[in-house]
Amino acid sequence: MASPTQEITTSAAASAPHAKPEFKKPATLPPPNLDFYGLTETLPAEEQEVLKQVRSFMETKVQPIITKYWVEDAFPFEILPALKELNIGGVGLQGYGCRGGSGLLAGLVAMEMARFDTSIATFFGVHSGLAMSSIYFGGSEEQKQKWLPPMARLEKIGCFGLTEPLVGSGASGGLTTTAKREGDTWIINGEKKWIGNAPWCDISVIWARDLADNQVKGFILENKTTPGFSVEKIQNKMALKVVQNGHITMENCRVPEENRLQEDKSFRDTAKVLRGTRYFVSWEATGCAMGAYENALKYAQERLQFGRPIGSFQLIQDLLAKMLGNITASQCLVGRMAQLEAEGKMTDAHAALSKAFCTSKCRETVAWAREVCGGNGIAADYNVGRFFADAEALYTYEGTYQMQNLIVGKAITGLSAFL
Ligand SMILES: Cc1cc2nc3c(=O)[nH]c(=O)nc-3n(C[C@H](O)[C@H](O)[C@H](O)COP(=O)(O)OP(=O)(O)OC[C@H]3O[C@@H](n4cnc5c(N)ncnc54)[C@H](O)[C@@H]3O)c2cc1C
Repeated sequence: MASPTQEITTSAAASAPHAKPEFKKPATLPPPNLDFYGLTETLPAEEQEVLKQVRSFMETKVQPIITKYWVEDAFPFEILPALKELNIGGVGLQGYGCRGGSGLLAGLVAMEMARFDTSIATFFGVHSGLAMSSIYFGGSEEQKQKWLPPMARLEKIGCFGLTEPLVGSGASGGLTTTAKREGDTWIINGEKKWIGNAPWCDISVIWARDLADNQVKGFILENKTTPGFSVEKIQNKMALKVVQNGHITMENCRVPEENRLQEDKSFRDTAKVLRGTRYFVSWEATGCAMGAYENALKYAQERLQFGRPIGSFQLIQDLLAKMLGNITASQCLVGRMAQLEAEGKMTDAHAALSKAFCTSKCRETVAWAREVCGGNGIAADYNVGRFFADAEALYTYEGTYQMQNLIVGKAITGLSAFL
């Protein structure tokens, strides 16, 4: 295919050596190819169909309205009926009314959602990943039968409460939320900060330290009917503005023993959930970078400066090529991670390296995308600033970049740098 540069007509230049060559835009330009090495093609045909449906939902129901909601810090409840119809709740989880499907499909769904909007991918990841996986891995058979089917149907939406106002990275050893058993009831006291979906969802998986044995245990709290449970929406965020994050306060919340996740014995079980969901943030970060790249590439093909599209300038093409390199490297990495997960070989260090690499490459990529768009790159209306801001949250949540590297560092040196 002819490049824009090859289309420059030379006649004017020949007749007047100092005149600027005229630029003739090619009749057609290639559409952005966000899957350069064809990762999606490795899915079986029926799973490719599911992915197409997710893409169509994001394109038709989310893309046209999301900037308005992002600017207003609001969640688009209007999309929920169509999202329910997609029937993807619990994708990658088997049984209990969950959508099932391969781990690769679940990852590609997260990537595809994030490519259009990282907040919607996060809302879905918190519910279908963090909250549902906590019950899937830590719940008894009875608990899974009770809670997962309505969550898979998105009739009950969940959140995951681990982080506290004073304890983030140090959650493994430092949780201050307490659980005290009195007969068949647990009394929960404490606060949780940054909890996605909490201001409006139905169910919270809360991690608390059992005062009797000092171990972290998981509890299912019903937000709207548990006395002593309150949530305040966190205001004035600059990233993932569509996700509603809450500051939860629990004052003598009484929770029945039947709502304690029966298979969870210690923070190791919490970490098992985080291993899977951290790896999922890699997919979201890859999608976020794709969204920024797609919009920046279209902009570069259309925006004229010095009489020609900025996409015809060498320095802009350098940025675009580097962005595609980051995206493709991340896709290859998460594709291999899906294989490791399917074979039961994914370790904490694998997940940590994947999260650290993909989120840092995402951060680099969205910054280049913003740069390509010049001043318009910081305006929400041009669809790049949103990805630029949202990447910051991906880089930090579910364990910061530094925490991931400490996990990898411990695995490769055999020496723990954790305090
Ligand atoms: C948008 C958003 C959504 C979130 N959603 C949820 C949710 O749904 N549920 C939930 O439980 N939590 C959630 N979180 C919380 C998130 O997981 C924490 O913000 C994150 O783990 C970091 O904790 P912190 O913010 O307390 O930072 P801190 O732990 O205070 O860290 C601050 C800085 O210090 C660095 N640091 C800390 N300790 C070390 C060390 N030993 N060595 C080197 N550097 C160190 C960190 O890397 C970081 O750069 C969310 C956060 C955000 C921003």
